[in-house]
Order: sequence, then C-alpha cells, then structure tokens
Amino acid sequence: MNKGIHELKKRSALTALLAVSVCLAVTFTACSSDEKAVDPLAIEVGTVLSEVSPESGHDAYDAYFGSFEIPDEIFEEMKGKSFKEDGRIRREELRYLRLLYVNYDGDTCMGEMVVNAACADDVVSIFRELYGASYQIKKMVRVDNYYDLVETDDDRDTESDDQSIYDDNTSAFNYRAASNNPDALSNHALGFAIDLNPVENPYVFADGTSGGPDAEKYLDRSKATTQNHMLADGDICVETFKKYGFTWGGDWEGDKDYQHFECAEKTEVQ
Ligand SMILES: [Zn+2]
Repeated sequence: MNKGIHELKKRSALTALLAVSVCLAVTFTACSSDEKAVDPLAIEVGTVLSEVSPESGHDAYDAYFGSFEIPDEIFEEMKGKSFKEDGRIRREELRYLRLLYVNYDGDTCMGEMVVNAACADDVVSIFRELYGASYQIKKMVRVDNYYDLVETDDDRDTESDDQSIYDDNTSAFNYRAASNNPDALSNHALGFAIDLNPVENPYVFADGTSGGPDAEKYLDRSKATTQNHMLADGDICVETFKKYGFTWGGDWEGDKDYQHFECAEKTEVQ
C-alpha cells in the first residue's frame, strides 16, 4: 500500500516535471517564433512602429514589407471606388502592398498601396530602399479613403484624386482618367503609376502655373532638397525609381508632373 502511494507520488512528480518542461519548451518556441514571424497585414495601416527603424538594418525590417493578392476585406473597400467592375483591369492583375516609410516626424509607419502585379516586386524594392535611406513620406493610404469626401457623384474618381493630393498622400492605383486628358485612361488606372508627396511635387502646366494646393511655394524647383521633400533629378528618390526602370514626370517636356512615377515598360493602355 505504502509502496503503491510512493510510486504514485513519484509518477505524479515525474508527470508534473514533464508538463513543466513541455510548457517551457512551448513558451520558448512561441517567443522565439514571435520575434521572427512578422505579419505586416496584421498591423493597422498608419501605425507608428517603435520596434524597427532604418538603422535596425534590413534583416530586421524586411519582414514588414510584402506583396499580396488583394485580400477580400480590402477588395470590398475598393469596389465602386478605386476598382470599377466594368474597368479594364482584373483583381488578379493587382497586388496589395504593405510598405514601411519614415514620416515627416521621422517615425517609422506602416503604409499600404495597390499596384499592378507586373511591377509589384519592383515597387516593394524601391520603397524598401527609400526606407533604408530614411527618405521621408508624408502619408501612404489607399485612395479609396478619399472617395467618401467627395460630395457630388460626378467625377468621383478624379475628385478623390484631388482630395488625396490635398492630404499630401502617396498612392498608386485608381481607375480614373488622366489628369491632362479626360478622354484617356490614366496609368494609375492600371496600377502602373505612383504619386509621391504630391503637395511638394505638384503637376505644373507648360505655362508654369499649377492647380496644386500651395503650389506657388513649390514652383521654383531649384530649391529642391531631400529635407523639403521636393523631388529633383539626381536625388535618392528619383534615382531609386529610375534604377528600377521607372520614368519620372519631372522629366516630361511641356507639362511636368513632379509627383508622378510610372513603370516604363508596362504603360501601354490598349
Ligand atoms: Zn500620377
């Protein structure tokens, strides 16, 4: 009887020890995998992140960048706004990107963008390089957020673009007409073009005027510096886009669109 109880106690003690070991092992594994497994989609857009910075090195921040098929909940928000059911582009031809950027306060933020699948990997690489160089971007959300600010039903797609520009928002895909030709489809309509820091980098007509917000402050392009967010030929942002085969609206003859970059090889709209 006594021996039996003794054996029982010994077994219970062993079982408890085993259970503690398993618990510790599970906890340890969970902790170490948590540190490595970053899911950028689980981080709310616009969140300021303190756990990474450009100085952490790309091994630490690469996992925060990603290109995904358009998630269902994002697609629901795009329908009837940036995505038109009768448009020439299919959901499968687009990608949803998560990109880190350094905002004007120097904080690391989670941004989002929708682009054509054909240039998605290049766009991720471009913004990863810009982040590593601490290049500042004001804001980066989908243009869908601005459709609700448009009061009239007419021209919602071009008006939403204006609202995004007023907010100095960096964005790409929007199924809409070209800014300079209402009869032509914009390259933004296929996700081949990106507008970056649009307030400081306005669309300027050939006669030197611009309809951009506070545009007069940004018309003298000889004042462009990385610090004042005005893009110039040879600066790190323009050079990085060109390295990946993008063209820049600042190089156009006649009208110039300083905020505008587009995929050079894929811009034919049929
Ligand atoms: Zn543009």
